[in-house]
Amino acid sequence: MRWTKAFIPTLKETPAEAEITSHKLLLRAGLIRKLAGGLYTFLPLGVRVLHKVERIVREEMDRAGALEVLMPALQPPEIWQQSGRYETAADVLFKVRDRSKKEWVMSPTAEEVITTVAAAEINSYRQMPVNFYQVSMKFRDEIRPRFGLMRAKEFIMKDAYSFDATDEGAMASYKKMYDAYKRIFDRCGVQNFPVEADTGVIGGNYSHEFMVPADTGENDVVYCEGCGYAANIEKATSGIPKTAARDAGGAFEKFETPGVVTIEALSKAPYSVPANRQIKTLVYIADSKPILILVRGDDQLNETKLMARTGAVAARPATPDEIFALLGARPGSLGAATKVPALVASGDVKVYADDRLQGANEMTTGANEDGYHLRNVSIERDIKVTQWCDLRTVSAGEPCAKCGKSLKIRRAIEVGHVFKLGTKYSEKLNATFLAEDGSRKPSVMGCYGIGVTRTMQAIIEQCNDKDGIVWPISVAPYTVCITPLAVAPDSAVMQVAESIYADLTAKGIDVILDDRDERPGFKFKDADLVGFPIRVAIGEKSLAKGEVEIKRRGGEMILVKSDDAVAKVAELIAAAGN
Ligand code: ATP
Ligand code: MG
Repeated sequence: MRWTKAFIPTLKETPAEAEITSHKLLLRAGLIRKLAGGLYTFLPLGVRVLHKVERIVREEMDRAGALEVLMPALQPPEIWQQSGRYETAADVLFKVRDRSKKEWVMSPTAEEVITTVAAAEINSYRQMPVNFYQVSMKFRDEIRPRFGLMRAKEFIMKDAYSFDATDEGAMASYKKMYDAYKRIFDRCGVQNFPVEADTGVIGGNYSHEFMVPADTGENDVVYCEGCGYAANIEKATSGIPKTAARDAGGAFEKFETPGVVTIEALSKAPYSVPANRQIKTLVYIADSKPILILVRGDDQLNETKLMARTGAVAARPATPDEIFALLGARPGSLGAATKVPALVASGDVKVYADDRLQGANEMTTGANEDGYHLRNVSIERDIKVTQWCDLRTVSAGEPCAKCGKSLKIRRAIEVGHVFKLGTKYSEKLNATFLAEDGSRKPSVMGCYGIGVTRTMQAIIEQCNDKDGIVWPISVAPYTVCITPLAVAPDSAVMQVAESIYADLTAKGIDVILDDRDERPGFKFKDADLVGFPIRVAIGEKSLAKGEVEIKRRGGEMILVKSDDAVAKVAELIAAAGN
Protein backbone atom coordinates (compact mmCIF):
# COMPACT_ATOMS: atom_id res chain seq x y z
CA MET A 1 0.00 0.00 0.00
CA ARG A 2 1.10 3.54 -0.71
CA TRP A 3 0.37 6.16 1.93
CA THR A 4 -1.08 8.55 -0.64
CA LYS A 5 -3.69 5.91 -1.51
CA ALA A 6 -4.35 4.56 1.99
CA PHE A 7 -6.72 7.21 3.42
CA ILE A 8 -5.10 7.85 6.81
CA PRO A 9 -6.57 11.09 8.17
CA THR A 10 -4.25 11.64 11.15
CA LEU A 11 -5.03 14.50 13.53
CA LYS A 12 -2.55 16.77 15.30
CA GLU A 13 -5.04 17.97 17.87
CA THR A 14 -6.74 15.70 20.33
CA PRO A 15 -10.50 15.72 19.69
CA ALA A 16 -12.44 17.04 22.67
CA GLU A 17 -14.78 14.02 22.66
CA ALA A 18 -12.03 11.62 23.85
CA GLU A 19 -11.23 11.19 27.54
CA ILE A 20 -8.84 8.25 27.63
CA THR A 21 -5.57 7.69 25.77
CA SER A 22 -6.70 4.82 23.59
CA HIS A 23 -9.79 6.68 22.44
CA LYS A 24 -7.70 9.75 21.58
CA LEU A 25 -5.23 7.62 19.65
CA LEU A 26 -7.94 5.76 17.73
CA LEU A 27 -9.16 9.14 16.50
CA ARG A 28 -5.78 10.80 16.03
CA ALA A 29 -4.28 7.85 14.13
CA GLY A 30 -7.25 7.89 11.77
CA LEU A 31 -8.65 4.48 12.72
CA ILE A 32 -12.22 5.45 13.61
CA ARG A 33 -14.64 8.35 13.41
CA LYS A 34 -17.68 9.00 15.57
CA LEU A 35 -21.13 9.03 14.01
CA ALA A 36 -23.02 9.51 17.28
CA GLY A 37 -22.47 8.53 20.91
CA GLY A 38 -21.42 4.87 21.01
CA LEU A 39 -21.50 4.54 17.20
CA TYR A 40 -18.32 4.56 15.13
CA THR A 41 -17.19 4.17 11.55
CA PHE A 42 -14.06 2.11 11.11
CA LEU A 43 -11.78 3.78 8.57
CA PRO A 44 -9.46 1.65 6.41
CA LEU A 45 -6.63 1.36 8.97
CA GLY A 46 -9.12 0.54 11.72
CA VAL A 47 -10.62 -2.22 9.59
CA ARG A 48 -7.18 -3.71 9.01
CA VAL A 49 -6.55 -3.96 12.77
CA LEU A 50 -10.03 -5.31 13.35
CA HIS A 51 -9.51 -8.03 10.74
CA LYS A 52 -6.21 -9.02 12.29
CA VAL A 53 -7.74 -9.39 15.75
CA GLU A 54 -10.64 -11.32 14.21
CA ARG A 55 -8.23 -13.61 12.38
CA ILE A 56 -6.45 -14.52 15.60
CA VAL A 57 -9.83 -15.14 17.24
CA ARG A 58 -10.99 -17.37 14.37
CA GLU A 59 -7.74 -19.34 14.21
CA GLU A 60 -7.86 -20.13 17.91
CA MET A 61 -11.57 -20.95 17.92
CA ASP A 62 -11.06 -23.27 14.94
CA ARG A 63 -8.03 -24.83 16.62
CA ALA A 64 -10.18 -25.51 19.71
CA GLY A 65 -12.68 -27.31 17.49
CA ALA A 66 -15.43 -24.66 17.50
CA LEU A 67 -17.49 -24.28 14.31
CA GLU A 68 -18.22 -20.88 12.80
CA VAL A 69 -21.87 -19.97 12.14
CA LEU A 70 -23.64 -16.69 11.56
CA MET A 71 -26.89 -15.85 13.31
CA PRO A 72 -29.42 -13.11 12.54
CA ALA A 73 -29.04 -9.71 14.18
CA LEU A 74 -32.85 -9.43 14.40
CA GLN A 75 -34.35 -11.87 16.87
CA PRO A 76 -38.00 -12.65 17.64
CA PRO A 77 -38.95 -11.40 21.13
CA GLU A 78 -40.77 -14.69 21.77
CA ILE A 79 -37.52 -16.57 22.40
CA TRP A 80 -36.47 -13.87 24.85
CA GLN A 81 -39.80 -14.26 26.64
CA GLN A 82 -39.25 -18.02 26.72
CA SER A 83 -35.82 -17.68 28.33
CA GLY A 84 -37.13 -15.09 30.79
CA ARG A 85 -34.66 -12.48 29.63
CA TYR A 86 -37.20 -10.27 27.87
CA GLU A 87 -37.66 -8.77 31.35
CA THR A 88 -34.31 -9.39 33.01
CA ALA A 89 -32.25 -7.94 30.17
CA ALA A 90 -34.89 -5.38 29.21
CA ASP A 91 -32.73 -2.35 29.95
CA VAL A 92 -30.12 -3.23 27.31
CA LEU A 93 -32.42 -4.52 24.57
CA PHE A 94 -32.79 -2.45 21.42
CA LYS A 95 -36.20 -3.15 19.89
CA VAL A 96 -37.43 -2.27 16.43
CA ARG A 97 -40.75 -2.69 14.65
CA ASP A 98 -41.31 -3.87 11.12
CA ARG A 99 -43.99 -2.60 8.70
CA SER A 100 -46.64 -4.82 10.29
CA LYS A 101 -45.73 -3.33 13.70
CA LYS A 102 -44.25 -6.62 14.86
CA GLU A 103 -41.43 -6.14 17.33
CA TRP A 104 -37.89 -7.52 16.92
CA VAL A 105 -34.97 -7.57 19.32
CA MET A 106 -31.55 -6.53 18.03
CA SER A 107 -29.07 -9.14 19.16
CA PRO A 108 -27.13 -8.15 22.29
CA THR A 109 -25.92 -11.78 22.48
CA ALA A 110 -27.32 -15.03 21.08
CA GLU A 111 -27.98 -17.73 23.71
CA GLU A 112 -31.67 -17.82 22.78
CA VAL A 113 -31.01 -18.18 19.05
CA ILE A 114 -28.35 -20.87 19.25
CA THR A 115 -30.39 -22.83 21.80
CA THR A 116 -33.32 -22.72 19.36
CA VAL A 117 -31.01 -24.15 16.70
CA ALA A 118 -29.82 -26.85 19.10
CA ALA A 119 -33.40 -27.71 20.10
CA ALA A 120 -34.19 -28.50 16.46
CA GLU A 121 -30.91 -30.03 15.34
CA ILE A 122 -29.25 -31.81 18.25
CA ASN A 123 -31.20 -34.94 19.07
CA SER A 124 -28.62 -37.41 20.27
CA TYR A 125 -25.66 -37.50 22.62
CA ARG A 126 -23.68 -38.64 19.59
CA GLN A 127 -23.90 -35.11 18.13
CA MET A 128 -22.07 -33.66 21.12
CA PRO A 129 -19.81 -32.10 22.23
CA VAL A 130 -20.31 -29.30 19.76
CA ASN A 131 -19.37 -25.64 19.98
CA PHE A 132 -20.72 -22.96 17.60
CA TYR A 133 -19.24 -19.49 17.31
CA GLN A 134 -19.85 -16.33 15.34
CA VAL A 135 -18.19 -12.96 14.93
CA SER A 136 -20.88 -10.32 14.54
CA MET A 137 -22.28 -6.95 15.48
CA LYS A 138 -24.04 -6.84 18.83
CA PHE A 139 -26.37 -4.09 20.00
CA ARG A 140 -26.82 -2.90 23.58
CA ASP A 141 -28.67 0.10 24.87
CA GLU A 142 -25.91 0.96 27.37
CA ILE A 143 -26.83 3.51 30.05
CA ARG A 144 -23.51 5.27 29.54
CA PRO A 145 -21.78 4.56 26.25
CA ARG A 146 -18.28 5.96 26.60
CA PHE A 147 -14.58 5.72 25.94
CA GLY A 148 -15.00 5.08 22.22
CA LEU A 149 -15.12 1.38 21.38
CA MET A 150 -14.83 0.35 25.04
CA ARG A 151 -18.52 0.74 25.80
CA ALA A 152 -20.40 1.27 22.58
CA LYS A 153 -24.03 0.92 21.53
CA GLU A 154 -23.00 -1.50 18.82
CA PHE A 155 -19.79 -3.49 18.86
CA ILE A 156 -18.28 -6.60 17.37
CA MET A 157 -18.34 -9.64 19.60
CA LYS A 158 -17.15 -13.15 19.07
CA ASP A 159 -19.67 -15.31 20.87
CA ALA A 160 -19.47 -19.07 21.22
CA TYR A 161 -21.87 -21.65 22.68
CA SER A 162 -20.99 -25.21 23.66
CA PHE A 163 -23.41 -28.11 24.03
CA ASP A 164 -22.53 -31.22 25.97
CA ALA A 165 -24.29 -34.38 27.09
CA THR A 166 -22.77 -34.38 30.57
CA ASP A 167 -21.46 -32.03 33.22
CA GLU A 168 -17.94 -33.37 32.85
CA GLY A 169 -18.18 -32.81 29.11
CA ALA A 170 -19.33 -29.23 29.70
CA MET A 171 -16.38 -28.66 32.03
CA ALA A 172 -13.99 -29.94 29.34
CA SER A 173 -15.59 -27.62 26.76
CA TYR A 174 -15.22 -24.72 29.21
CA LYS A 175 -11.56 -25.53 29.77
CA LYS A 176 -10.93 -25.59 26.03
CA MET A 177 -12.40 -22.12 25.62
CA TYR A 178 -10.52 -20.83 28.67
CA ASP A 179 -7.25 -22.02 27.15
CA ALA A 180 -8.16 -20.64 23.71
CA TYR A 181 -8.93 -17.24 25.25
CA LYS A 182 -5.56 -17.16 26.97
CA ARG A 183 -3.87 -17.87 23.63
CA ILE A 184 -5.97 -15.28 21.79
CA PHE A 185 -5.09 -12.43 24.15
CA ASP A 186 -1.44 -13.50 24.34
CA ARG A 187 -1.25 -13.52 20.55
CA CYS A 188 -2.83 -10.07 20.44
CA GLY A 189 0.26 -8.94 22.33
CA VAL A 190 -1.63 -7.63 25.31
CA GLN A 191 -0.96 -8.38 28.98
CA ASN A 192 -3.99 -10.25 30.29
CA PHE A 193 -5.13 -12.45 33.13
CA PRO A 194 -8.24 -14.47 33.97
CA VAL A 195 -10.24 -13.74 37.12
CA GLU A 196 -13.21 -15.39 38.83
CA ALA A 197 -16.37 -13.54 37.89
CA ASP A 198 -20.00 -12.96 38.78
CA THR A 199 -22.42 -14.46 36.27
CA GLY A 200 -24.87 -11.53 36.10
CA VAL A 201 -27.89 -11.56 33.85
CA ILE A 202 -26.48 -14.39 31.68
CA GLY A 203 -26.91 -16.76 34.61
CA GLY A 204 -25.11 -20.04 35.21
CA ASN A 205 -22.84 -21.07 37.98
CA TYR A 206 -19.20 -20.76 37.02
CA SER A 207 -17.37 -18.07 35.17
CA HIS A 208 -14.11 -16.26 34.46
CA GLU A 209 -13.41 -12.90 32.91
CA PHE A 210 -10.26 -12.09 30.98
CA MET A 211 -8.85 -8.78 32.08
CA VAL A 212 -6.35 -6.37 30.60
CA PRO A 213 -4.74 -4.30 33.36
CA ALA A 214 -5.33 -0.57 32.79
CA ASP A 215 -6.02 2.38 35.10
CA THR A 216 -8.91 3.41 32.88
CA GLY A 217 -10.61 -0.01 33.12
CA GLU A 218 -14.12 -0.17 34.56
CA ASN A 219 -13.43 -3.21 36.74
CA ASP A 220 -11.66 -3.62 40.06
CA VAL A 221 -9.79 -6.87 40.31
CA VAL A 222 -8.72 -8.36 43.64
CA TYR A 223 -5.58 -10.48 43.37
CA CYS A 224 -3.03 -12.27 45.49
CA GLU A 225 0.63 -12.40 44.59
CA GLY A 226 1.11 -15.30 46.98
CA CYS A 227 -1.12 -17.97 45.44
CA GLY A 228 -2.40 -16.38 42.22
CA TYR A 229 -6.00 -15.96 43.41
CA ALA A 230 -7.74 -13.32 41.28
CA ALA A 231 -11.38 -12.30 41.19
CA ASN A 232 -13.52 -9.43 40.07
CA ILE A 233 -14.40 -7.34 43.14
CA GLU A 234 -18.05 -8.21 42.39
CA LYS A 235 -17.18 -11.78 43.31
CA ALA A 236 -14.03 -11.59 45.45
CA THR A 237 -13.87 -12.84 49.04
CA SER A 238 -11.08 -12.64 51.58
CA GLY A 239 -9.98 -14.40 54.74
CA ILE A 240 -10.91 -11.45 56.94
CA PRO A 241 -12.02 -12.66 60.41
CA LYS A 242 -15.64 -12.47 61.52
CA THR A 243 -16.69 -9.99 64.17
CA ALA A 244 -15.37 -11.01 67.57
CA ALA A 245 -18.13 -12.24 69.87
CA ARG A 246 -18.15 -10.69 73.33
CA ASP A 247 -20.11 -11.50 76.46
CA ALA A 248 -23.59 -10.42 75.43
CA GLY A 249 -24.89 -9.64 78.90
CA GLY A 250 -28.48 -8.40 79.19
CA ALA A 251 -31.05 -7.21 76.67
CA PHE A 252 -30.39 -4.37 74.25
CA GLU A 253 -31.16 -0.85 75.40
CA LYS A 254 -32.16 2.34 73.68
CA PHE A 255 -30.04 5.46 74.09
CA GLU A 256 -30.38 9.00 72.84
CA THR A 257 -28.29 10.10 69.86
CA PRO A 258 -29.72 13.44 68.76
CA GLY A 259 -28.70 14.40 65.24
CA VAL A 260 -26.45 11.36 64.76
CA VAL A 261 -27.09 9.87 61.32
CA THR A 262 -23.72 8.45 60.25
CA ILE A 263 -21.49 5.61 61.32
CA GLU A 264 -18.72 8.14 61.73
CA ALA A 265 -20.65 10.45 64.03
CA LEU A 266 -21.55 7.54 66.28
CA SER A 267 -17.92 6.48 66.42
CA LYS A 268 -16.95 9.86 67.94
CA ALA A 269 -17.30 11.15 71.50
CA PRO A 270 -19.49 11.15 73.47
CA TYR A 271 -20.73 7.85 71.94
CA SER A 272 -17.39 6.40 70.85
CA VAL A 273 -18.81 3.25 69.24
CA PRO A 274 -16.15 1.97 66.82
CA ALA A 275 -17.44 1.34 63.28
CA ASN A 276 -16.66 -2.35 63.64
CA ARG A 277 -19.14 -2.57 66.53
CA GLN A 278 -21.96 -0.98 64.54
CA ILE A 279 -24.46 -2.60 62.20
CA LYS A 280 -25.20 -0.66 59.04
CA THR A 281 -28.83 -1.16 57.97
CA LEU A 282 -29.74 -0.47 54.34
CA VAL A 283 -33.15 -0.68 52.72
CA TYR A 284 -33.45 -1.68 49.06
CA ILE A 285 -36.40 -2.26 46.81
CA ALA A 286 -35.75 -5.59 45.08
CA ASP A 287 -38.27 -6.54 42.40
CA SER A 288 -40.68 -4.04 43.99
CA LYS A 289 -40.42 -5.54 47.50
CA PRO A 290 -38.48 -3.94 50.37
CA ILE A 291 -35.51 -5.86 51.73
CA LEU A 292 -33.12 -5.02 54.55
CA ILE A 293 -29.39 -5.45 54.21
CA LEU A 294 -27.08 -5.59 57.19
CA VAL A 295 -23.33 -5.10 56.89
CA ARG A 296 -20.80 -4.13 59.51
CA GLY A 297 -20.33 -0.42 60.07
CA ASP A 298 -16.83 -0.44 58.58
CA ASP A 299 -17.88 -2.50 55.51
CA GLN A 300 -19.36 -1.51 52.16
CA LEU A 301 -22.22 -3.34 50.48
CA ASN A 302 -21.41 -4.73 47.03
CA GLU A 303 -24.53 -4.34 44.87
CA THR A 304 -23.55 -7.07 42.41
CA LYS A 305 -23.28 -9.52 45.28
CA LEU A 306 -26.67 -8.31 46.52
CA MET A 307 -28.23 -9.04 43.13
CA ALA A 308 -26.58 -12.45 42.98
CA ARG A 309 -27.61 -13.48 46.53
CA THR A 310 -31.21 -12.25 46.30
CA GLY A 311 -31.71 -13.35 42.70
CA ALA A 312 -33.40 -9.99 42.11
CA VAL A 313 -33.91 -8.81 38.55
CA ALA A 314 -33.89 -5.14 39.59
CA ALA A 315 -32.85 -3.56 42.86
CA ARG A 316 -32.35 0.01 44.00
CA PRO A 317 -31.88 1.85 47.29
CA ALA A 318 -35.26 2.74 48.80
CA THR A 319 -36.12 6.45 48.94
CA PRO A 320 -36.29 8.18 52.36
CA ASP A 321 -40.10 8.29 52.00
CA GLU A 322 -40.34 4.57 51.27
CA ILE A 323 -38.09 3.89 54.26
CA PHE A 324 -40.15 6.10 56.54
CA ALA A 325 -43.34 4.35 55.46
CA LEU A 326 -41.80 0.98 56.26
CA LEU A 327 -39.84 1.64 59.46
CA GLY A 328 -41.06 4.99 60.76
CA ALA A 329 -37.56 6.45 60.74
CA ARG A 330 -35.11 8.10 58.37
CA PRO A 331 -31.79 6.77 57.05
CA GLY A 332 -29.22 7.09 59.80
CA SER A 333 -31.52 5.75 62.52
CA LEU A 334 -32.40 2.38 60.99
CA GLY A 335 -31.99 -1.02 62.53
CA ALA A 336 -33.42 -4.53 62.32
CA ALA A 337 -33.86 -5.30 66.00
CA THR A 338 -37.10 -3.38 66.47
CA LYS A 339 -40.23 -3.46 64.21
CA VAL A 340 -38.42 -5.59 61.66
CA PRO A 341 -38.79 -8.99 63.38
CA ALA A 342 -42.59 -8.59 63.08
CA LEU A 343 -42.28 -7.63 59.39
CA VAL A 344 -40.08 -10.67 58.76
CA ALA A 345 -42.51 -12.92 60.59
CA SER A 346 -45.43 -11.68 58.49
CA GLY A 347 -43.39 -12.20 55.30
CA ASP A 348 -43.38 -8.48 54.44
CA VAL A 349 -39.60 -8.08 54.37
CA LYS A 350 -36.54 -10.25 54.14
CA VAL A 351 -33.31 -9.51 55.96
CA TYR A 352 -30.01 -10.33 54.26
CA ALA A 353 -27.02 -10.11 56.58
CA ASP A 354 -23.37 -10.26 55.72
CA ASP A 355 -21.52 -13.34 56.95
CA ARG A 356 -19.07 -11.18 58.83
CA LEU A 357 -21.80 -10.26 61.33
CA GLN A 358 -22.78 -13.82 62.14
CA GLY A 359 -22.47 -14.46 65.88
CA ALA A 360 -21.73 -10.80 66.66
CA ASN A 361 -23.03 -9.31 69.88
CA GLU A 362 -22.71 -6.09 71.88
CA MET A 363 -23.41 -4.30 68.60
CA THR A 364 -24.94 -0.88 68.13
CA THR A 365 -27.61 -0.15 65.53
CA GLY A 366 -30.42 2.31 64.81
CA ALA A 367 -33.62 2.14 66.86
CA ASN A 368 -35.99 2.97 63.97
CA GLU A 369 -36.71 6.15 65.83
CA ASP A 370 -35.02 9.37 64.77
CA GLY A 371 -32.43 10.39 67.36
CA TYR A 372 -32.12 6.99 69.02
CA HIS A 373 -29.86 3.96 68.71
CA LEU A 374 -29.76 0.59 70.40
CA ARG A 375 -26.74 -0.88 72.13
CA ASN A 376 -25.93 -4.36 73.27
CA VAL A 377 -27.67 -5.90 70.26
CA SER A 378 -26.91 -9.57 69.82
CA ILE A 379 -27.52 -10.24 66.19
CA GLU A 380 -28.62 -13.87 66.39
CA ARG A 381 -30.75 -13.23 69.46
CA ASP A 382 -32.36 -9.93 68.50
CA ILE A 383 -32.57 -9.94 64.72
CA LYS A 384 -34.45 -12.35 62.49
CA VAL A 385 -32.03 -12.85 59.61
CA THR A 386 -33.63 -14.44 56.55
CA GLN A 387 -30.33 -15.26 54.89
CA TRP A 388 -26.68 -15.06 55.83
CA CYS A 389 -24.47 -14.43 52.84
CA ASP A 390 -21.39 -12.70 51.53
CA LEU A 391 -22.36 -9.11 50.72
CA ARG A 392 -19.34 -6.99 51.58
CA THR A 393 -16.74 -5.48 49.28
CA VAL A 394 -13.19 -6.69 49.79
CA SER A 395 -10.56 -3.98 50.44
CA ALA A 396 -6.87 -4.02 49.58
CA GLY A 397 -4.69 -5.35 52.38
CA GLU A 398 -7.14 -7.97 53.62
CA PRO A 399 -5.67 -11.46 53.93
CA CYS A 400 -6.14 -13.88 51.02
CA ALA A 401 -8.62 -16.63 51.97
CA LYS A 402 -6.38 -19.22 50.34
CA CYS A 403 -2.89 -18.32 51.49
CA GLY A 404 -3.15 -15.42 53.95
CA LYS A 405 -0.99 -13.01 51.96
CA SER A 406 -2.15 -9.43 51.68
CA LEU A 407 -4.63 -8.90 48.78
CA LYS A 408 -4.13 -6.17 46.21
CA ILE A 409 -6.62 -4.41 43.94
CA ARG A 410 -6.11 -3.01 40.48
CA ARG A 411 -8.19 -1.60 37.66
CA ALA A 412 -8.69 -3.61 34.50
CA ILE A 413 -10.63 -3.80 31.25
CA GLU A 414 -12.81 -6.88 30.74
CA VAL A 415 -12.12 -8.17 27.23
CA GLY A 416 -13.57 -11.67 27.43
CA HIS A 417 -15.93 -13.71 29.55
CA VAL A 418 -16.46 -17.48 29.77
CA PHE A 419 -19.49 -19.02 31.50
CA LYS A 420 -20.59 -22.48 32.39
CA LEU A 421 -24.33 -22.15 31.87
CA GLY A 422 -25.58 -25.57 32.86
CA THR A 423 -29.11 -26.32 31.64
CA LYS A 424 -30.71 -22.91 32.24
CA TYR A 425 -31.33 -22.16 28.56
CA SER A 426 -31.67 -25.71 27.27
CA GLU A 427 -34.48 -26.36 29.75
CA LYS A 428 -36.35 -23.17 28.96
CA LEU A 429 -36.01 -23.55 25.19
CA ASN A 430 -36.42 -27.34 25.11
CA ALA A 431 -32.96 -28.21 23.80
CA THR A 432 -33.11 -31.84 24.86
CA PHE A 433 -31.37 -34.91 23.46
CA LEU A 434 -31.58 -38.65 23.69
CA ALA A 435 -28.95 -39.75 26.22
CA GLU A 436 -26.96 -42.98 26.07
CA ASP A 437 -29.28 -44.57 28.65
CA GLY A 438 -32.33 -43.81 26.49
CA SER A 439 -33.63 -40.91 28.61
CA ARG A 440 -34.25 -37.38 27.30
CA LYS A 441 -32.11 -34.71 28.91
CA PRO A 442 -31.46 -31.01 28.44
CA SER A 443 -28.00 -30.39 27.04
CA VAL A 444 -25.38 -28.80 29.27
CA MET A 445 -24.28 -25.46 27.87
CA GLY A 446 -21.45 -22.98 28.10
CA CYS A 447 -21.15 -19.55 26.53
CA TYR A 448 -18.06 -17.55 25.74
CA GLY A 449 -17.70 -13.94 24.59
CA ILE A 450 -14.87 -11.74 23.40
CA GLY A 451 -15.37 -8.04 22.76
CA VAL A 452 -13.37 -7.85 19.54
CA THR A 453 -13.63 -4.07 19.15
CA ARG A 454 -13.05 -3.52 22.88
CA THR A 455 -9.97 -5.75 22.67
CA MET A 456 -8.67 -3.65 19.80
CA GLN A 457 -8.91 -0.54 21.96
CA ALA A 458 -7.57 -2.30 25.08
CA ILE A 459 -4.43 -3.15 23.11
CA ILE A 460 -3.93 0.55 22.38
CA GLU A 461 -4.68 1.51 25.99
CA GLN A 462 -1.81 -0.71 27.03
CA CYS A 463 0.56 -0.33 24.08
CA ASN A 464 1.30 3.37 23.59
CA ASP A 465 3.85 6.04 24.41
CA LYS A 466 4.00 9.83 24.17
CA ASP A 467 4.32 9.66 20.37
CA GLY A 468 1.39 7.40 19.66
CA ILE A 469 0.39 3.75 19.37
CA VAL A 470 3.00 0.99 19.73
CA TRP A 471 1.26 -1.88 17.91
CA PRO A 472 2.22 -5.46 18.62
CA ILE A 473 3.23 -6.92 15.24
CA SER A 474 0.35 -9.41 15.26
CA VAL A 475 -2.35 -6.74 15.06
CA ALA A 476 -0.64 -3.72 13.48
CA PRO A 477 -2.47 -2.20 10.51
CA TYR A 478 0.76 -2.54 8.52
CA THR A 479 3.83 -4.25 9.93
CA VAL A 480 6.41 -2.16 8.12
CA CYS A 481 6.44 1.48 7.07
CA ILE A 482 9.02 2.39 4.45
CA THR A 483 9.90 6.07 4.66
CA PRO A 484 11.94 7.52 1.79
CA LEU A 485 13.18 10.89 3.05
CA ALA A 486 12.73 12.42 -0.38
CA VAL A 487 10.36 11.17 -3.04
CA ALA A 488 11.74 12.55 -6.30
CA PRO A 489 10.77 9.98 -8.94
CA ASP A 490 13.63 7.79 -10.19
CA SER A 491 16.01 9.05 -7.49
CA ALA A 492 18.33 6.45 -5.95
CA VAL A 493 16.41 6.81 -2.67
CA MET A 494 13.09 6.06 -4.34
CA GLN A 495 14.52 3.15 -6.31
CA VAL A 496 15.78 1.46 -3.14
CA ALA A 497 12.49 2.22 -1.36
CA GLU A 498 10.51 0.68 -4.22
CA SER A 499 12.73 -2.36 -4.33
CA ILE A 500 12.48 -3.05 -0.57
CA TYR A 501 8.72 -2.47 -0.85
CA ALA A 502 8.43 -5.01 -3.66
CA ASP A 503 10.56 -7.61 -1.85
CA LEU A 504 8.71 -7.31 1.46
CA THR A 505 5.36 -7.47 -0.34
CA ALA A 506 6.51 -10.57 -2.21
CA LYS A 507 7.30 -12.17 1.16
CA GLY A 508 3.71 -11.61 2.24
CA ILE A 509 4.62 -8.88 4.73
CA ASP A 510 2.13 -6.03 5.27
CA VAL A 511 3.98 -2.95 4.18
CA ILE A 512 3.10 0.65 3.54
CA LEU A 513 5.31 3.01 1.55
CA ASP A 514 5.14 6.61 2.73
CA ASP A 515 5.29 8.22 -0.73
CA ARG A 516 4.05 11.61 0.48
CA ASP A 517 6.13 14.58 -0.56
CA GLU A 518 6.55 15.87 2.99
CA ARG A 519 9.40 16.70 5.37
CA PRO A 520 11.01 13.61 7.00
CA GLY A 521 10.11 14.83 10.52
CA PHE A 522 6.45 15.13 9.53
CA LYS A 523 6.42 11.62 8.07
CA PHE A 524 8.19 10.10 11.10
CA LYS A 525 5.69 11.76 13.44
CA ASP A 526 2.77 10.29 11.55
CA ALA A 527 4.36 6.83 11.39
CA ASP A 528 4.97 6.92 15.15
CA LEU A 529 1.43 8.16 15.82
CA VAL A 530 -0.11 5.32 13.81
CA GLY A 531 2.42 3.03 15.45
CA PHE A 532 3.80 0.81 12.68
CA PRO A 533 6.04 -1.74 14.44
CA ILE A 534 9.00 -1.47 12.05
CA ARG A 535 10.17 1.56 10.13
CA VAL A 536 12.68 1.46 7.28
CA ALA A 537 14.00 4.95 6.51
CA ILE A 538 15.96 5.63 3.37
CA GLY A 539 17.89 8.87 3.04
CA GLU A 540 20.52 10.12 0.63
CA LYS A 541 23.27 10.36 3.24
CA SER A 542 23.20 6.82 4.55
CA LEU A 543 22.41 5.44 1.13
CA ALA A 544 25.67 6.97 -0.09
CA LYS A 545 27.30 4.41 2.26
CA GLY A 546 24.92 1.73 0.95
CA GLU A 547 22.91 1.76 4.17
CA VAL A 548 19.31 2.21 5.32
CA GLU A 549 17.92 2.81 8.83
CA ILE A 550 15.70 0.26 10.52
CA LYS A 551 13.87 1.11 13.69
CA ARG A 552 11.56 -0.96 15.86
CA ARG A 553 8.75 1.31 17.16
CA GLY A 554 9.89 2.45 20.58
CA GLY A 555 13.31 0.82 20.08
CA GLU A 556 16.79 1.73 18.88
CA MET A 557 17.63 2.66 15.32
CA ILE A 558 20.10 0.42 13.50
CA LEU A 559 21.92 0.84 10.19
CA VAL A 560 21.98 -2.10 7.78
CA LYS A 561 23.21 -2.54 4.22
CA SER A 562 20.31 -1.82 1.92
CA ASP A 563 20.64 -5.33 0.44
CA ASP A 564 20.19 -6.83 3.92
CA ALA A 565 17.17 -4.72 4.84
CA VAL A 566 14.54 -7.26 3.82
CA ALA A 567 16.25 -10.10 5.69
CA LYS A 568 16.64 -7.91 8.80
CA VAL A 569 12.95 -6.95 8.75
CA ALA A 570 11.95 -10.61 8.37
CA GLU A 571 14.19 -11.46 11.31
CA LEU A 572 12.54 -8.81 13.52
CA ILE A 573 9.09 -10.11 12.62
CA ALA A 574 10.08 -13.70 13.32
CA ALA A 575 11.53 -12.65 16.70
CA ALA A 576 8.16 -11.18 17.69
CA GLY A 577 6.74 -14.66 17.28
CA ASN A 578 2.98 -14.07 17.36
P1 ATP B 1 -19.61 -5.21 30.83
O1 ATP B 1 -19.56 -5.79 32.21
O2 ATP B 1 -18.37 -4.50 30.44
O3 ATP B 1 -20.86 -4.44 30.54
P2 ATP B 1 -20.76 -7.62 29.96
O4 ATP B 1 -20.41 -8.45 31.12
O5 ATP B 1 -22.10 -7.08 29.82
O6 ATP B 1 -19.69 -6.42 29.85
P3 ATP B 1 -20.66 -9.86 28.17
O7 ATP B 1 -22.11 -10.03 28.02
O8 ATP B 1 -19.89 -10.80 29.00
O9 ATP B 1 -20.35 -8.35 28.63
O10 ATP B 1 -20.05 -9.71 26.69
C1 ATP B 1 -18.84 -10.31 26.28
C2 ATP B 1 -17.79 -9.28 25.93
O11 ATP B 1 -18.31 -8.28 25.05
C3 ATP B 1 -17.29 -8.51 27.12
O12 ATP B 1 -16.27 -9.23 27.78
C4 ATP B 1 -16.75 -7.25 26.48
O13 ATP B 1 -15.43 -7.46 26.01
C5 ATP B 1 -17.65 -7.05 25.28
N1 ATP B 1 -18.64 -5.99 25.51
C6 ATP B 1 -19.74 -6.03 26.27
N2 ATP B 1 -20.44 -4.89 26.22
C7 ATP B 1 -19.77 -4.07 25.37
C8 ATP B 1 -19.99 -2.75 24.87
N3 ATP B 1 -21.04 -2.03 25.23
N4 ATP B 1 -19.08 -2.23 23.99
C9 ATP B 1 -18.01 -2.96 23.61
N5 ATP B 1 -17.76 -4.20 24.04
C10 ATP B 1 -18.61 -4.77 24.91
MG1 MG C 1 -19.18 -9.86 31.41
